[in-house]
This record gives sequence, structure tokens and C-alpha cells, in this order.
Amino acid sequence: MLLKTLREEVLEANLELVRRGLVLYTFGNVSGIDRDEGLVAIKPSGVPYDELTAAHMVISNLEGAPIESKLRPSSDLATHLELYKHFPNIGGVAHTHSEFATSWAQAEAPIPCFGTTHADYFHGPIPVTDRLSEDEIAGDYELETGKAICRTFSKIDPEEIPAVLVAGHAPFCWGTNAADAAHNAVIVEYVAKMAHHTLAINAESRPLARELHDKHFLRKHGRNAYYGQVKTQ
Ligand SMILES: [Zn+2]
Repeated sequence: MLLKTLREEVLEANLELVRRGLVLYTFGNVSGIDRDEGLVAIKPSGVPYDELTAAHMVISNLEGAPIESKLRPSSDLATHLELYKHFPNIGGVAHTHSEFATSWAQAEAPIPCFGTTHADYFHGPIPVTDRLSEDEIAGDYELETGKAICRTFSKIDPEEIPAVLVAGHAPFCWGTNAADAAHNAVIVEYVAKMAHHTLAINAESRPLARELHDKHFLRKHGRNAYYGQVKTQ
């Protein structure tokens, strides 16, 4: 079987979204990329999660052409591919319609950073895309969704904020691999929920101070990170 390990990683990341309560029915999809081969593995369209196996994962090239797959890929494949092309260091993409993050996307409101949980993962608010135009919706909709995400990140480093809210739709998240992308999707839902609760308790709540935000992000990410154990490999 082609790309057996990648298929298994992508299957496991998709199942993680189910275990964490982020998906209903067949909503959601995770993919992963093998950069050396230029091939992506993604969940198939419309297959129930409890029936999914590694063999069901659909392999395509970066142009979306299927390779060795009988099933149709997730309909969001073109969005994933656009992100892989424009964000060269990412290895996985996760998309859900999780309740709180999707609510922020529907409100077209960026998720503010109110606390260190958010700051540990995202070096700023989680942004919202512009709405798609009528032509973009009528045209290659999933590709245009990817382009709208990339436009949103024209001045944002996707490695510093590995998530976005697509206006009127839902979050897309990414990471170093499929598992990391799914992990970030879980965290986005958690911070979206807490931001909602924070504003419910006090509508005048202020974003975290810049110094504390930087402290928490930079102690986990980048050259001077010191959180966790030293990586030996
Ligand atoms: Zn969706």
C-alpha cells in the first residue's frame, strides 16, 4: 500500500477529532503531506468515521489528481492543497465545524487572546477571512476558500498562528503533521469556548497584555524556547 505510514497517521488524526468531540456525523477532515513524494493523504468524502481504515485514505498529488485511490477525497481537498502550496513548512491540515470555533467564524469575529492558554499556541488573535465573492462561490469554491485563507496570512506567519476562521464557515488549522494539525483544532475549539465564556462574564474583558502574550508564545516556540524537555534527535 502506497504511503502506509502517512495513511495511518492521517487516519489516527481524523479519529482524534472524533474522540475529542469535534465532529458530528461525517463532518471534518484531516490530511497530511509527504513533501518528498509531493503526495497528500486525506479522509475520503462521506465515509462514516467508525468504518474508516488506513486503506480508505485518498492519496492525491498537489494538483488534486488521485493516485491509487478508489474513493473520492474529501470535498475540501482543494483548500488543503492550496495551504500546502503556500505554507511550505506545514505537514498537516485539519478542518472541523466544532461548535465554538464555528460560532466565531459565523460571527466573523477574530478570537481574541484573553489568556495564556491561547498565547501558548497562537502569537495573536485567530483571524477571520474576508467573505468570498459571488464569483468565487460560483467558481472553484474550495480552491477560492484556500486562496482567501492565504490572503488573510499575507502579513501573518502561519507558523505563529496555525489556524484561521473562514467567514461564515468554520476553522481550518494546520501543524507540522496531521496529528499536530488535529491537536491545534482541539486547542482552537478550547480557546474559542473560553473566549466566549470570558466575554459572557465580562463583555469589557481586555486581551492579554502583549508582554505576557509574547512570554508564553516565545517560551514554547522559536529559537529561545525553553518549555518542555530538550529534544534529543
Ligand atoms: Zn467545512
